[in-house]
Amino acid sequence: MHIVVLAGGIGGARFLAGVRAHARTTGADVTAIVNVADDVVLHGLRISPDLDSVMYTLGGGADPERGWGRAGETWAIKGELAAYGAEPTWFGLGDKDVATHLVRTTMLNAGYPLSAVTEALCARWQPGVRLLPATDDRLETHVVVADDTGQRAIHFQEWWIRHRGDIPTRRFVFVGADVAKPAAGVLDALSTADVVLVAPSNPVVSIAPILAVSALREALTAGTAPVVGVSPVIGGAPVRGMADRCLAVLGVECTAAGVGGLLGARSAGGVLDGWLVDSTDAGTEVPGVTVGAAPLWMTDEAATAAMVRAALELA
Ligand code: GDP
Ligand code: CA
Repeated sequence: MHIVVLAGGIGGARFLAGVRAHARTTGADVTAIVNVADDVVLHGLRISPDLDSVMYTLGGGADPERGWGRAGETWAIKGELAAYGAEPTWFGLGDKDVATHLVRTTMLNAGYPLSAVTEALCARWQPGVRLLPATDDRLETHVVVADDTGQRAIHFQEWWIRHRGDIPTRRFVFVGADVAKPAAGVLDALSTADVVLVAPSNPVVSIAPILAVSALREALTAGTAPVVGVSPVIGGAPVRGMADRCLAVLGVECTAAGVGGLLGARSAGGVLDGWLVDSTDAGTEVPGVTVGAAPLWMTDEAATAAMVRAALELA
């Protein structure tokens, strides 16, 4: 059994911990195809927030309270950069985290693709699942915002962290998506998948940019494996994070039905065969998609593994 999971950062990481727990009891192989469109170069360092969230969480090195970055982090480098007035100052760059970015940047500069770099970093963290970036090419979410001077595009990280998404916003643009190819290993993973799960990640800025890699999307929709998504929205609210702000930009309702409709039925040009919603959202309908219901709060690994079993039953 080969389970392929499309995942963003924190929500994807927590879900993958449940997938891994399930796989350990069944002997399944797990491949995660992770969003890279949050990636950014800051202070000369290539930062891959979603890959790192997944790697640190599954490797036991994540900060459980903050949800991102390393446990036991210190912030000397951030303070020193601020003392130089080196912008940006709003990005949380922890000392331990910086070591990861230094290794990544050094390897990328030496010519290794991000997929190879990720494999090298995972040799330390042993996440227990195969982590693949969606693409080895440049793919970045930019956000078109409007202010007194007109429209301008800012990097997703600036929109998300500096502005908390609280700025008049026109649209998201996945820069590079038109030419980005699936990373090494991605098409192989999809062609050998017995099931594809879409993690309860942000549908607009975590899942959509993965699917914006056209050859990846084509392999997914043309494949024989059933595709089952898990709702990141419960009872009309994103459980944590700001998915509601992102959905509002698209004019999509922040409900399990809204997100299911956004991902869409595979039979109607979308990607889903099945859509798992929380028990409180039972009765949700998405045209062309088989909808199931189960408790979707990822409170601990056992609860998340039960979610995964429900998603696999739906498949
Ligand atoms: P990010 O890249 O770090 O923002 O993380 P993701 O995109 O992978 O996941 C963020 C999304 O996870 C949030 O928008 C929430 O909707 C969703 N989420 C977080 N915790 C839970 C949970 O316990 N259950 C469900 N169903 N969704 C969750
Ligand atoms: Ca992210």
